[in-house]
Amino acid sequence: MKVGFCTSCRFLDHQTGPHHPERPDRLRAIFAAVRDAGMVTSPYPAGGEDVHFGISIPHPPHLIEIEPRAATVEEVLMVHAQRHIDRVRIRSQSGGMLDNGDTPVSHDSYSVALLAAGAGLTCVDAIMSGQVKRAFAAVRPPGHHAEPNAAMGFCLFSNVAIAARYAQQQHHLSRIAIVDFDVHHGNGTQAAFFTDPSVFFASLHEDPHVLYPNSGFDWEIGAAAGRGHTLNVPMAPGADDATYLKAMHESVLPMLDSFKPQLLLVSAGFDAHRDDPLADINLTEDGFYQLTRLLVEVANRHCHGRLLSILEGGYNLRALGRSVIQHLLALSQQ
Ligand SMILES: [Zn+2]
Repeated sequence: MKVGFCTSCRFLDHQTGPHHPERPDRLRAIFAAVRDAGMVTSPYPAGGEDVHFGISIPHPPHLIEIEPRAATVEEVLMVHAQRHIDRVRIRSQSGGMLDNGDTPVSHDSYSVALLAAGAGLTCVDAIMSGQVKRAFAAVRPPGHHAEPNAAMGFCLFSNVAIAARYAQQQHHLSRIAIVDFDVHHGNGTQAAFFTDPSVFFASLHEDPHVLYPNSGFDWEIGAAAGRGHTLNVPMAPGADDATYLKAMHESVLPMLDSFKPQLLLVSAGFDAHRDDPLADINLTEDGFYQLTRLLVEVANRHCHGRLLSILEGGYNLRALGRSVIQHLLALSQQ
């Protein structure tokens, strides 16, 4: 099974300042984990909060390393308004805050955010050309909170939404599904496709009554022609692997099976892990493995196995690294 792993040291250059949870060490932890697990050969840099995983996998899958290209402004415009793009670019020049203070940018943030969006596009091309069957893009900044007109929740550009639009326009796909299992609601992705029947969006997240961004109620189902093409599955605080798998079987999988996507995109946040400091959901690494297997099986049933997963959140470094390994193992099996 050919699985791509798309990342870059450039993603470390988006600086968010001391004590910010969305920090470069998140990516260093993933680098260390895939290296320790024997899945890659590139000597990705360590450093920062030094996390050693000591992961032992008897026959680790060898990932195909993919160098991302930057998205062009025209490609970002498929989802975002020009004035939003300009705002990110100009604010990055001086450094500072977007979105009322929780989304910092530094000098390189604009170009790094274009590279994060471009990683998804690079992977779409690699999948559609048959170079790989599936791919995981380990990027930052994350994307699923960024709305067409606003940066939000550590996110500048909506990486997964731009990848979906690109797959439609460049590869002429008419039905794309996006499943978001980050613990927070993917409000930006939802906003991009709320009235669009060509993209089915499903988000599992902690109950919006108690967790940021306080959207993603089950009555948010899309509007106009897109009505019924958005599915929100709020999970009660304390929900565990079994609860998530049950929700997948009962709510998400039937709708994916009736939609029959031609490409499956995944917003893969790992902050629903029980050790994550930002939320109160109790998934384990094995839970992420099983969730991913269900999604792989959907891709196998409907779109020749084609699946692209893009990193969103995940803020406990050890939990993040170990969960990503399980996610990659699940992607690597038939
Ligand atoms: Zn999150």
